[in-house]
Amino acid sequence: MSKLSKLTELKGVGPKLAEQLHKLHIHTLADLFFHLPFRYEDRSRITPIGALQPMSPAVFQGEVRGANILFGKRRSLLVKLQDHSGTVSLRFYHFNAAQKNQMSVGTTLRCYGEPRRGASGLEIYHPEYSVVRDDDPPELEAKLTPVYPATDGISQQRLRLLHEQATELLAQQAVDLPDLLPADWLQQWRLPTLSQALLFLHQPPSGTDLNRLMLGQHPAQKRLILEELLAHQLSLHKLRAQVQADQAPAVISKHALRNKLLAALPFKPTNAQQRVTAEITADLENPYPMLRLVQGDVGSGKTLVAALAACDLLEAGYQVALMAPTEILAEQHLQNLTGWFEPLGVQVGWLAGKIKGKARIQAQEAIADGSAQLVIGTHALFQDDVHFSRLGLVIIDEQHRFGVHQRLALREKGAHLNIAPHQLIMTATPIPRTLAMSAYADLDTSIIDELPPGRSPITTVAISDQRRPEVIERVNSACAEGAQAYWVCTLIEESETLQCQAAENTAAELREVLPHLRIGLVHGRMKPKEKADVMASFKAHELDLLVATTVIEVGVDVPNASLMIIENPERLGLAQLHQLRGRVGRGSARSHCVLLYKNPLSFTSKQRIQVLRDSQDGFYIAEQDLQIRGPGEMLGTRQTGLQMLRVADLMRDAELLPQVQTMAEQLWYQLPHAVEPLIQRWLGDAERFASV
Ligand code: ADP
Ligand code: MG
Repeated sequence: MSKLSKLTELKGVGPKLAEQLHKLHIHTLADLFFHLPFRYEDRSRITPIGALQPMSPAVFQGEVRGANILFGKRRSLLVKLQDHSGTVSLRFYHFNAAQKNQMSVGTTLRCYGEPRRGASGLEIYHPEYSVVRDDDPPELEAKLTPVYPATDGISQQRLRLLHEQATELLAQQAVDLPDLLPADWLQQWRLPTLSQALLFLHQPPSGTDLNRLMLGQHPAQKRLILEELLAHQLSLHKLRAQVQADQAPAVISKHALRNKLLAALPFKPTNAQQRVTAEITADLENPYPMLRLVQGDVGSGKTLVAALAACDLLEAGYQVALMAPTEILAEQHLQNLTGWFEPLGVQVGWLAGKIKGKARIQAQEAIADGSAQLVIGTHALFQDDVHFSRLGLVIIDEQHRFGVHQRLALREKGAHLNIAPHQLIMTATPIPRTLAMSAYADLDTSIIDELPPGRSPITTVAISDQRRPEVIERVNSACAEGAQAYWVCTLIEESETLQCQAAENTAAELREVLPHLRIGLVHGRMKPKEKADVMASFKAHELDLLVATTVIEVGVDVPNASLMIIENPERLGLAQLHQLRGRVGRGSARSHCVLLYKNPLSFTSKQRIQVLRDSQDGFYIAEQDLQIRGPGEMLGTRQTGLQMLRVADLMRDAELLPQVQTMAEQLWYQLPHAVEPLIQRWLGDAERFASV
C-alpha cells in the first residue's frame, strides 16, 4: 500500500480547509506533523486545591462552601470551593441566576483554570466548570491536551481533531514520513526516532513533566531541534558548495603592489591585520572562490586588510569591487583608497545611486572595459546594468546589512568569463560565536582582535538629561580646546521623520546656546550630496560639532573627534551603541562618550548602560546584546532562514550547535542522499528562494 502524503487524504479535508491550512504553512501531511503544539494543558489528573500554583492551569475539584454576589466596583459572584487539602475562590463577572443556583452549598464542582493571586488568596477567574454527580463523574483525559498555533477560520478543536487523525495514521506507519537519520546514529546520540518523537509531542502521556516540555528539554524535542538545526547547517554547506564549485582566479602573488602600498603607509599593520591578511592570501591562491568573513571591532583597521587583499588581484590584472551599505561610507572609502592607490597607478572607479546621466554611463563604461580597476560604490555596483570586465574580488563592508541571498547574487557578476569573484566580507558588528556558527556557516571567519596602537580608551559616563546644561557646557569647553564632538539624536527606528525632526530641533537648540561654535547637521532625509558635504566639512574641521541621527553609525572616521553625546541611549541596542561610540577614540586624544538618558530608566536599560560603561570589547558587548535582545534582531531582518526556525531556538539551544556542526559534517560526507530531503523538509520554500 502506498503511504499517505497529501493533506486531502485526511478525512474531512477538502480544498477549502487545505487552503486554510496553507496559511499556517501546512502544505503536506508531513508539514502537519511539524506544526507542533506551543503549549499543553494537563486535563489528565486532578490537582488537590492545596497544591494549586499561581500561573499553572490545572484541573481541581471541591465542594461549594459558599456562593455570594459581591457589589464592589463590578458586581461579581464569588464561590468558595474546598477539598481535603484547602480552599480556593472562583470569581465570575458574567453569570446568571441559573448558574448561581447551580452552585449551591454542598455541590461538587470540577474546574479547569489558571489560579492567580487575588485579594482572598488564590482565585480563578471564569474557570471552565461542570457539576460532578456521584453516579456519573466526568472523565479525565488520558493524555496531555495539545494547544496548537491556530489562525482565522480553523478552530483549535478542528486542528486537534486533524492532528488526532494524522497521529493515528502515523502510529500505524501509514504516512510517508521517512526517518532521515539512520538508526545507528540515533542510538549513538540517544535520540528517539522521528515518529516516536512526533507521536510523543502531539500526544504526551499523562504524567509528562510539563516544565521540561516548556523548556524544550525533552528528548523528543531535542530530536526535532537537532534535525532542524542540522537542516539549516546543511543548507549553508550546500550554498557554500555551490559557490565553490565555480572557478575563481587563483592568484599566486609576489605581492609587489602590496609591498609598495605598505611602504607608503605612515604606520605598520598590526599583528592581527597581518595574520588575517595571511589567511586571505592563502584563500586567494585557491582556484575556487574565497568565502571569508572578517570580523573586527570598530577602528581595528579592516580597510587596510581589504586594500592588501585587493592588491594581489589588481596586480594579476583583475578588477576589485568594494561595496559599502551607505553613500557616506562608500565616499569615505573612495577618499581613503584613492589616496592609497592612485599614487601606485591604480585607476579607482566610483558608482553610487546618485551618479546619473552621462557620468553614470562613463562610470559603467570604465567598469565594463576594465579601465576602472578598483571600483568603489554602494548597491548600485551590483545592478543588472553594471558589467565588469574581469571581476576577481568583491569586498563587502559592514556585512550585517547584506543578506545571504545578496551575497549569492554576486556569483553572477563574473559569469560571462566562467569565473566567479572571491568574496571578502567585513563586519564591525562582532557576531557571538554561537550565532556565527549557524548564521554564517557558509563562510570562513577571520578575526582582527587588536586595535592599532596609540588609541586611548573611551571613557563612558551616563548622565540624566536633567543635567543637560552641564553636558552642553562640556561640549563647549571641549570644542574650545580644539576637539570636535558628535551629538547623536536617537529615536525608535520606525520613525525616520521624527528622528530627523529631533535632530533638527537639537541642532537649533545648540546653535542658540552655543552661538560661537560651528555646528553642522546630518540626517537620513538629507540628499546624499548634502550629507556628504556636511561630513566632509566635519572631517576638515570646518565644523566643531556635528548633530546627527544614527546615520553616522557605521564607519565614519574623524580622528579629531573625541567627544560624543548620545541622547536617549536606552532606545538603541547595545551593539549599535558600541558602533556609534566607536566614532570617537580614533585619535590619540582621550575620548569621552556621554550617554544622556531620560529618567526613569527601566531595569534592562540600566543593565545595558552598565555593560557599555564597563566594557569596550565588541565581542563581550555583542554577547550581552544577544542575551538581552535575542538573535533575530541582532542579525537583522534580512537574515531570513534563521528567523523561520520552527522548533529550535538559537538562544535556548545554543549548546547544541557544536554537535549540530559535527553531525552536519558527517552527514554531508557519509549520507549525501539524506542532505536534500532534510533541507526540503525543514526549509522547503525558503531554500528554493535562497538559491535563485
Ligand atoms: P574599521 O575596522 O572600523 O573599518 P578603519 O579601517 O576605518 O577601521 O581604520 C581606522 C583608522 O585606523 C583609520 O584611520 C586607519 O587609517 C587607521 N589604521 C588602520 N590600521 C592601522 C595601523 N596598523 N596602525 C595605525 N593606524 C591604523
Ligand atoms: Mg570600516
